[in-house]
Amino acid sequence: MTLITNHMPTEELRALDAAHHMHPFTAGNELAEKGAKVITRAKGVFLTDSEGNEILDGMAGLWCVNIGYGRPELAEAAARQMKELPYYNTFFQTTHVPAIALSQKIAELAPGDLNHVFFASSGSEANDTNIRLIRTYWDQKGEPDRKVIISRKNAYHGSSLGSGSLGGMSAMHAQGGMPIPDIHHIDQPHWWGEGGDMTPEEFGIARARALEDAILEIGPERVAAFIGEPVQGAGGVIAPPGTYWPEVQKIVEKYGILLVADEVICGFGRTGSWFGSQTLDIKPHIMTIAKGLSSGYQPIGASVVCDEVAGVIAESEFNHGYTYSGHPVASAVARENIRILEEENIVDHVRDVAAPALKEAMTALTNHPMVGEFSSVGLMGSLALTPDKDTRAKFAAEPGTVGFICRERCFANNLVMRHVGDRMVVSPPLIITADEIGMLAERARTALDEAFEIVKDRGLWAAAS
Ligand SMILES: *Cc1c(COP(=O)(O)O)cnc(C)c1O
Repeated sequence: MTLITNHMPTEELRALDAAHHMHPFTAGNELAEKGAKVITRAKGVFLTDSEGNEILDGMAGLWCVNIGYGRPELAEAAARQMKELPYYNTFFQTTHVPAIALSQKIAELAPGDLNHVFFASSGSEANDTNIRLIRTYWDQKGEPDRKVIISRKNAYHGSSLGSGSLGGMSAMHAQGGMPIPDIHHIDQPHWWGEGGDMTPEEFGIARARALEDAILEIGPERVAAFIGEPVQGAGGVIAPPGTYWPEVQKIVEKYGILLVADEVICGFGRTGSWFGSQTLDIKPHIMTIAKGLSSGYQPIGASVVCDEVAGVIAESEFNHGYTYSGHPVASAVARENIRILEEENIVDHVRDVAAPALKEAMTALTNHPMVGEFSSVGLMGSLALTPDKDTRAKFAAEPGTVGFICRERCFANNLVMRHVGDRMVVSPPLIITADEIGMLAERARTALDEAFEIVKDRGLWAAAS
């Protein structure tokens, strides 16, 4: 038997990884040839890889390590809970203290009358729950024809069959029989990429009205809900124009449909409030949460449900649940994570210190020839790469070609930034300091300079016609 440890040579780890480990969202053969980066440990905002590099994690893992890496309190909360009660379920009229404590705390933090929590182990599962909650709600209200859920192109709501269908990623829909029936996708409020000659304000209204057009086209009596991320994350950090959400809110109210805010990234401080719905003044009936709920230390997600919807669902048996709904260890760790977020005033730090520092440091990069804009809400932001800032042109090359080059140069400079097409995304741990933000922006500039040389060398410095 081989004992596989951090001390094995990187090449051996890579070979074993390529032989046995199938990676999510990855072309397997291409990765096997090049070898995956092996991350061995992390502390604060820094990762260490198997070659000893110290990498600034500008993505907080996958947008989730809100309190930063290496907090022993969360490890201790997990160990304590594992010793006391490692597992019990919440089916069939049983409960346990960690699920009680966490649901109470979430209800306290959540805005409005979002007082009821249905647990899952991920954002995808929670959004699958939402599909069933929404349709069951309308069934029980005597309106069983209300099944259609409206979402947006380029939205991300997860990767299971249900949540991937809610999402609007065409590359995902092309594989495995998605979307499921009765999910309808409208255009996204992405002014930089799609706004044409409109002002951002006009464009925000126009894209909100697309919701009303869809409702009328489908038939208002068939529409159950609208789902959106307050700020689209995986789609490239698309901050909607200020006019968008107020207009959506009006339309949702006019037609009496349910509104779901997918807060999986925006929740737990990312936008400078506890929830993105507070920052953008959205009044959802259901919020999806995951990621920052436990800072990624344990897999946990949930649907947070308003009094009205929870009340109707409670009238009969809801035939749905996961073995790990409200898992005691995950719940205890999430509760401890929230304690740290609160006691260390991390949400205030985002709003008052880190978000303004990120905006300033990254906006300074817009004097780079390849950078058109930096757009951000709180500690999520993105740089638009463009061959022509004035016309907001796309590159002639396949979308993502230049973004990928830039991402590779970030990696080479010990910075994790992700590319979504030709947007470079940042979403660092919320505890990042102003100095660390300075380092992030400095490494990003070096990466941009190096990428620019490569882009010119390969003849990619050209706009799409
Ligand atoms: C990541 C994400 C999800 C899916 O969460 P998983 O835990 O990966 O299943 C859903 N919605 C949004 C907005 C996300 O960013």
